[in-house]
Amino acid sequence: MKILDGKKTSNDIKNEIAIEVAEILKKGGRPPHLAAILVGEDGASLTYVNSKVKACQRIGFESTLIRLSKDISEDELLEEIDKLNNDPDLDGFIIQLPLPSHFNENKILNAVDPNKDVDGFHPSNVGKMVLNQPTFLPATPMGIMELLKRYQIETSGKHCVVIGRSHIVGSPISILMARNTNPGNATVTLTHSRTKNLKELTLQADIIVVALGKAEFLTGDMVKEGVVVIDVGITRVADQSKKSGFKLYGDVHFDELAEKASYITPVPGGVGPMTIASLLMNTLQSYKTRN
Ligand code: NAD
Repeated sequence: MKILDGKKTSNDIKNEIAIEVAEILKKGGRPPHLAAILVGEDGASLTYVNSKVKACQRIGFESTLIRLSKDISEDELLEEIDKLNNDPDLDGFIIQLPLPSHFNENKILNAVDPNKDVDGFHPSNVGKMVLNQPTFLPATPMGIMELLKRYQIETSGKHCVVIGRSHIVGSPISILMARNTNPGNATVTLTHSRTKNLKELTLQADIIVVALGKAEFLTGDMVKEGVVVIDVGITRVADQSKKSGFKLYGDVHFDELAEKASYITPVPGGVGPMTIASLLMNTLQSYKTRN
């Protein structure tokens, strides 16, 4: 079994981007600029958004974190988005999800200028992704594809089973894996909470992408020898022996799967860091297009 090391790969990508940024600055250009809007006080969201800001600082991007009270109205948030859409010195921005429940998430995401939508969530960018046109790909599935590419995992003609059909992971990764690209060209089965006999499907899979948010859901008896396993899940479980007070679990029973898998992503240190790397790649792409 080999580890698909997302932490190392994302560091490689960050180093590559940092070199490009240094070149831009040497020529007198402004640095690429990414902003993030965080509404409310959710601890996990704050951790994610802070790691995105830290990653920007490390590679020489300018970053702006906009923190808003959970009590602001939808109109106030839309005004904030409008300001970012019209800021000529901003290349991209994200709205950290989930939003508090009184917001209409679709309405908010649809208000983002598709040309600054570096999370790749706007319907126009999703449409382009489906049509295999150049666009910002959603960060987590893009990170998974990049990881498969850099480890030269063969996907063409393979059977890929995706568990979970969310808009941000399961659905887009199923599209990307089936597209006529490399990686891609897989035969994809998209499964979800209504799927019957999931184990029958996972036992046939050459590649499994697990994104359902249930700790250690995929167990050793559900997979065949040699399977490639991509674990997207992140569940915080209280653990007083940890300084943070919790331990992170993936959707995969790592010890059981490690015995059978040919490749596997760890949690933490797998898909998570690749998501951030993709966001930075999209921001650099936006910068280049705008300049
Ligand atoms: P979600 O929470 O929106 O939806 C869960 C999906 O799982 C649904 O589509 C549901 O149909 C499916 N599901 C539930 N029970 C199932 C079952 N028994 N069998 C098959 N499918 C089932 O999904 P999400 O937002 O993609 O999040 C999934 C996990 O991935 C969460 O733990 C989240 O924290 C994590 N995540 C990680 C990253 C990262 O960068 N590593 C990014 C996004 C999400």
